[in-house]
Amino acid sequence: MLRTHHCNELNLQHLNQKVTLAAWVKTLRDKGKIIFVDIRDKFGITQLRAEEGKSPPEVIETMRKLGREFVVQVTGTVIERASKNPDLPTGEIEIEVEHIQILNPSKVPPFLIEDETDGGEDLRMRYRYLDLRRNTIRKNLELRHRIAQATRHYLDSQGFIEVETPMLIKSTPEGARDFLVPSRMNLGEFYALPQSPQTFKQLLMVSGFDRYFQIVKCFRDEDLRADRQPEFTQIDCEMSFVTQEDVLQMFEGLIRYLFQQIKGLELPAFPRMRYDDAMRLYGSDKPDTRFGMPFVELNELVKGKGFQVFDSAELVVGICAKGCAEYTRKQLDELTEFVKRPQIGAKGLVYVKCNADGTFKSSVDKFYTETDLQQWATKMQAEKGDLLLILSGETNKVRKQLCELRLEMGNRLGLRDKNQYSCLWIIDFPLLEYNEEDKRFYAMHHPFTSPKPEDLPLLDNESEYANIKANAYDMVINGVEVGGGSIRIYQRPLQEKMLSILGFSPEEAKAQFGFLMEAFEFGAPPHGGIAFGFDRLCSLFGGADTIRDFIAFPKNNAGRDVMINSPAPISQAQLDELGIRLVNKKA
Ligand code: ASP
Repeated sequence: MLRTHHCNELNLQHLNQKVTLAAWVKTLRDKGKIIFVDIRDKFGITQLRAEEGKSPPEVIETMRKLGREFVVQVTGTVIERASKNPDLPTGEIEIEVEHIQILNPSKVPPFLIEDETDGGEDLRMRYRYLDLRRNTIRKNLELRHRIAQATRHYLDSQGFIEVETPMLIKSTPEGARDFLVPSRMNLGEFYALPQSPQTFKQLLMVSGFDRYFQIVKCFRDEDLRADRQPEFTQIDCEMSFVTQEDVLQMFEGLIRYLFQQIKGLELPAFPRMRYDDAMRLYGSDKPDTRFGMPFVELNELVKGKGFQVFDSAELVVGICAKGCAEYTRKQLDELTEFVKRPQIGAKGLVYVKCNADGTFKSSVDKFYTETDLQQWATKMQAEKGDLLLILSGETNKVRKQLCELRLEMGNRLGLRDKNQYSCLWIIDFPLLEYNEEDKRFYAMHHPFTSPKPEDLPLLDNESEYANIKANAYDMVINGVEVGGGSIRIYQRPLQEKMLSILGFSPEEAKAQFGFLMEAFEFGAPPHGGIAFGFDRLCSLFGGADTIRDFIAFPKNNAGRDVMINSPAPISQAQLDELGIRLVNKKA
């Protein structure tokens, strides 16, 4: 080794020992006669010291040549420091340098390599290897490593085996576009990168593997939304001979184990919420349940009093914000502006202040009496001092809008504490989802998800499609969908029927999924599984909003890696070899 110790190791117990350290220069302080240099490695910081007249002249000379991020190797003696730093494990000692060698100089780094950096996102991504030298980012990746290790430990202990599935496959629909890879050996044909290993893990169940998992890269060519990565990692799992209940137990176990191991937290059992209830009470299939503020529907109380907006609305629904009756005009205007933003799209916001003196003040006083408002307040379980916020319109839209407003109020009231965790299962998802634009049904989870057995007859009646429930479930933590899965179809006739409902002709179904359906004819066991978004899970454990800082080399919001500059054009020769002619070449 080029060192005897690392930079977080030495203390008063090592006094007078001769040591060798190798690390990066963090800070330099030239006090004239005495020079102090802090060196840093991934373990910590150690202070070096050299003094004119005392240290060898070549040491002084080299110390004066150093710059930030130079890599040095130093030999010296551990001595007690005059002014100690109680915040550092090495804060009581320093190294009296006897020999120093510059192993590699460094250009001036483009940003500060400190916990608080002055580097903007772009610069940090361009020099990601320097960004990763920062403690905060490196710690995120250490956390990621620990979560991966704990996951493997838990799943291994439960009899799961990790199996790698191929990356060059053909389309597995998870609702996004595929990334395609041209095949040189089969001109004009393409592989797809897996959106998930879904079909392969099901085939492993047909093979009798019983319990499979994989921490695996998945690829989805989606329009980029904030904090989405075109390639991301899943904890992908599948089990044979299980019911939904078995899967929920097993993976609630995994997440509780991770919280225990990583955060030292014992979580209570995860509540279950039906999809329909989640939509009705929170307007979302991933409600943030760190706080209450459930929706209260007001249709029967508000209609027929001459207020046209409510009279014509399909749904009038509100939330009660505790202790907010004192909101000023300005604050209420802000909330109105918030819901009117194009991304949210509400036409307006009705408020009712439940004043401390028992009176009410609302934005619809013209239409409603104090008695009316009192009824609303009672229904919404409001107390004196509370503020009712009410939206109206088409059911699905208004629920989405109120969901945003509820989260905003949660933020404003400080109810979304990053160090508090509220986990739950959303169950009983619809099997199919109607798309207004395409005028057809899509699988809400994916085409391999099994309908609830009792709903099977509804598959024969198109008008009932929207009412079919699936054995599909999501795990939600703090308003984030961290995982989702389902019990699968495992019989060919049902899979064929499902694909036909989804608009596949028998030929298309056979061409795309013939291999899976054929496998179902060779003794496929009942099976089901789940996949967790691993990057998201890591950011949640790390108390961060963004997944990017938990991925070593992420892509930016435009799907680019600005460090290696990818994607990039390829040469004409490569294109020719692949038989590809570009029609819309970028200028
Ligand atoms: N393959 C699914 C997904 O990526 C998860 C599953 O159904 O197990 O969401």
